[in-house]
Amino acid sequence: MKVNFLDLKSQYLCIKDEIDNAIQRVLDSSAFASGPFVKSFEDHFAEKHEAKYCVGVNSGTAALHASLMALEIRAGDEVIVPANTFFATPEAVSLSGAIPVFVDCDPDYYNSDVSQIESAITEKTKAIIAVHLYGQPAEMKMIQQIAKKHNLCLIEDCAQAHTSAFEGKSVGTFGTMGCFSFYPGKNLGAYGEGGAVITNDKKLHEKLLMIRDHGMLKKYHHEIIGHNYRMEGIQGAILDVKLKYIDEWTTKRRKNAKLYRHYLSDCNEVILPKEMQNAKHVYHLFVIRSEKRDALQKYLTANKIYTGIHYPIPCHQQTAYKNLGYKKGDFPITDSYANQLLSLPMSEQLGESEIEYVAQIIFDFFAKDISV
Ligand SMILES: *Cc1c(COP(=O)(O)O)cnc(C)c1O
Repeated sequence: MKVNFLDLKSQYLCIKDEIDNAIQRVLDSSAFASGPFVKSFEDHFAEKHEAKYCVGVNSGTAALHASLMALEIRAGDEVIVPANTFFATPEAVSLSGAIPVFVDCDPDYYNSDVSQIESAITEKTKAIIAVHLYGQPAEMKMIQQIAKKHNLCLIEDCAQAHTSAFEGKSVGTFGTMGCFSFYPGKNLGAYGEGGAVITNDKKLHEKLLMIRDHGMLKKYHHEIIGHNYRMEGIQGAILDVKLKYIDEWTTKRRKNAKLYRHYLSDCNEVILPKEMQNAKHVYHLFVIRSEKRDALQKYLTANKIYTGIHYPIPCHQQTAYKNLGYKKGDFPITDSYANQLLSLPMSEQLGESEIEYVAQIIFDFFAKDISV
């Protein structure tokens, strides 16, 4: 049996007619950049997350950068980010001219260790970016309190957490802005690149509209320096179709996570992901931990089970951030987990027999003790 890490082709085939029709409508109308299809998606996406406004952009990175620009974060400022995240989180901070200040991750839930956020605050700190990594919300109550106490802006990186919630409230609505990615492999994926920012703040909404379109609201009247961060019409139309399925797909992901737990419950050699209480984990990734990660991954691959590592090199150790002067061991949890984390196949297309097979091969591996 072959088990793909994710299966975008099968997903497309399930909704092919609707997608093909949606694309055809864009072609017929020539609304290729922004326009009515993007607007329709924005309205539905805001509604889904119980936010007032949504601004569609052309990537999750653009969403983060536009948010930082809207808050006028610039050179000389500091923004607190997790060390355990995808590189785009700190990268957006650097694009704004500010400096990312990393904090280690929580040993159980993999999001920012909240107890370290406060000690990372200096007089230069302007914002905190909370990342809902792997689909599990960060400790938003506590992070909100810290932001409020120190008068800091709070941005949420929801790139892996579409429709996730903390204490019944949608992610993306705890801070000033919530940033989403619609990269094809995300829980809600475009057929190309895409992103969005949600907010309840009217002024920020207006500013985001300007930033995504060369700093203008009225054609050729450029009020500020912006960017070309417009969402494509075709992506808006596709995302509007796929948004109708997100609840069904998320339910399936959560069910698959339960099945992994069931089939792996007796496997003492791997550590399963912990779910926070009062949080809705949407399982963008199902991440286990093992001291024998590399050998295990190799064995799974040899058995045609395709896995991922998120992420093999922590942000603070990337060459691009050599100048920040961090070194190995600065964030011991993130550093040691980078060698242990393994993302098993996860999508709504995954079936129980495949999950059972993955678990079987994992048991096999430890029974034979193939590792060196
Ligand atoms: C995917 C991702 C991004 C960037 O989104 P793009 O659409 O690829 O630019 C940012 N943050 C996190 C946590 C992500 O997973």
